[in-house]
Amino acid sequence: PSDSPASPLLPVALSIAGSDSSAGAGIQADLKTFAACGVYGATAITAITAQNTQGVADVEVMQAALVAAQIQAVVNDMPVAAVKTGMLANRETVMRVAQELETLDLPLVVDPLMVSSSGRVLLASDAVATMKSALIPLAALITPNIDEAAALLGQPRAQDLPEVIEQALALLGLGSDAVLLTGGHLPGEESVDVFCSADGLQLLRSPKLTHSHTHGTGCTLSAAACAYLALGKPALEACRAAKAYVQQALQAAPKLQVGRGRGPLNH
Ligand code: PLP
Repeated sequence: PSDSPASPLLPVALSIAGSDSSAGAGIQADLKTFAACGVYGATAITAITAQNTQGVADVEVMQAALVAAQIQAVVNDMPVAAVKTGMLANRETVMRVAQELETLDLPLVVDPLMVSSSGRVLLASDAVATMKSALIPLAALITPNIDEAAALLGQPRAQDLPEVIEQALALLGLGSDAVLLTGGHLPGEESVDVFCSADGLQLLRSPKLTHSHTHGTGCTLSAAACAYLALGKPALEACRAAKAYVQQALQAAPKLQVGRGRGPLNH
């Protein structure tokens, strides 16, 4: 301890998210991603899930005050360069996290996740409005998939690329600086993500992989984008680099052979 701490050699990124006991998604995916992308990862845990590659068995949500205390403990000690939010569980936590982040003015990536791929609700439905009004306007970037985009907009799920583009532009109206709407769940040979900001719109394309070892893909993408923002990249470049990171971790995933269900990415 010292009164004037030295600057860390690595930028610090903070993940505010849920714990996944199987370490494929959530806080654990974020820490692996931060380490691989060259940033130091700190965490504020919002909920503990008992889950594996086959599904979520149980969830206990932390008190919002404890989430706030974790955020304060980190930012009062470390020069956090960027923040991401993942599972926020309920309205009270969304509100409390937004209050904490409002005072910090740091680049923020919001992964507006609502339901796990196995079908477990990770954000109470009455928290979506608060996420829209209090948290998303603070964000440098939001990273919804097409189901989350539909839920945020109160519209049907996009069926094709023109509809994804339309929804990405509509999401920009919620007040984040940029939107990365991931189209990987659409049918087709390619996974096409739509990036938009005040500077315009870009399509980020990658070949679609056909295996099912995709547990934690959304968490990993938003964590990588957060890491690259912490390293000083502008949002579009951070998204391109994050997509490339996810692509290689997905490509390597079948080699892991961990668990009997939808396995994790290989970082
Ligand atoms: N559990 C936690 C704690 C998460 O943060 C996430 C992230 O999206 C998931 C589960 C869901 O992961 P997936 O939908 O990739 O299985």
